[in-house]
This record gives sequence, structure tokens and C-alpha cells, in this order.
Amino acid sequence: CGICGVVGHRPATPIVFEGLRRLEYRGYDSSGIATVEHGRLARCRAAGKLDNLAKALEETPLSGTTGIGHTRWATHGAPTTNNAHPHRVGKVAIVHNGIIENFSDLKKTLEAGGRTFETETDSEAVAHLLDEHIQNGLPPKEAAFATIRQLQGAYAIAMIFEGHDNLLIGARHGAPLAIGYGEGEMFLGSDSLALAPLSSQISYLEDGDWCVLTREHVEILDGQGRAVERPIQTASLTT
Ligand code: GLU
Repeated sequence: CGICGVVGHRPATPIVFEGLRRLEYRGYDSSGIATVEHGRLARCRAAGKLDNLAKALEETPLSGTTGIGHTRWATHGAPTTNNAHPHRVGKVAIVHNGIIENFSDLKKTLEAGGRTFETETDSEAVAHLLDEHIQNGLPPKEAAFATIRQLQGAYAIAMIFEGHDNLLIGARHGAPLAIGYGEGEMFLGSDSLALAPLSSQISYLEDGDWCVLTREHVEILDGQGRAVERPIQTASLTT
């Protein structure tokens, strides 16, 4: 139901966790965070309130300066820890808001290709598609574009990649996603509230847009893969 992400130079987990706190008002049943920790993906999830995630993070602290987080409002699969996002498959981790309408077709094809699903969610299909493109040799940006072209439905998605601690990719189609511009760090959030204390310079992705963020750079592309400009709005700092 809510997404927060950062590619930066400070510990990512507290930044993402506080972003999730500011998204609590949307309602949720479970939550989770994943980071790129010394080049490897690390993840922590919990059913129920964010306090449960805070407790789980005490037992499984996540280091790293790039991370994604999610508050889930379950549509496909019970609100369990195992169904909570981020979903990690192979070399990728993703969070997703919305519904992947063609997920059962995608799942059938992926399973026929030998893949095993670990959750009951529609969202896990996104992680499998992305990982498959990576396994087939595509670089993350191309793999992300190939993946979103296979998706039908409503989504905001954030993706991180093993071995890439300076990379955060987002995509939106029918669910909101915004970019916050920082100094040597960039953010993704479901809305300006998630981003408010992090950045006052915000771009809203339009439907079909996706974006490639590094600490220093923001690239926004449209559904045809063409670079596009979206206005940077100066948000008033409210928390
Ligand atoms: N459809 C996804 C799920 O059930 C995402 C739900 C959401 O937007 O939080 O896991």
C-alpha cells in the first residue's frame, strides 16, 4: 500500500523505516524492508504493525545505503510474514503496490520454465520476471524495462539488485510514485508525505513512467523507453 526507497550514502534502513511510518495512515497489514548489504541483498519482514518490523529489525539489522520498504494491504495471499514484501528472487528484490492482473498467466509460464513461487502474492511474479531477465544476461535497467512491459494492471514498483549498491529503479502505472531529489542521495515514495523530511524537490512519475536512480542522477523514461522530463516541484516541508 505504501513504498519508500533510497539510494544514498547513509544507512538506508532508518530512512526507509521512517518513510513507512509516514505511510501508515494509508492502512496496512504487514511490512518489510530490503537493502543491498555489501553487494548482497538482505531482507526483514513482519506481519502486523510496524512495531513488529522494528522488533524483527533488532534481531536482523540490515546495513547498506540502498534499500526499499513496503507497507502491504493484501489483495492476493493472506497478510502473513511470508507474503509480506519485499519479494526476493535470485539477484533482485522488489516491492509492489497494486494488482498485477495477468499474474496467473505469468506464474504459469514462469512455473513451466522451472521456477518455484514461495508466496501467494501476485507481486512475486514481478520479482521472478526481473530475475529471469537478469539471469538471461540483461543489465538491470534493460531487465526492468523488459519486466514492466510484461505487466498488466495497476502498479507502483521499486527494485534493487544484488551487486548494485548505487541503483534503485521505480515504475508506475495506475498507482502513485514520486522521486525525491537529495544531495548525493535519491528517494522514491508513494507520496510527498513519505518524502517530506527527506527532500523538498519532488517529481511525480506519470502513468507508464519508470525511473533509474543513482546517488547522483535521476533518469525518467516513458513506456516506450524514451527519456522524458517531469517537472520538479518544491514541496513545503511538513511532517
Ligand atoms: N497485490 C499485492 C499483494 O497483495 C500488493 C498489495 C499492496 O498494494 O499493498 O501483496
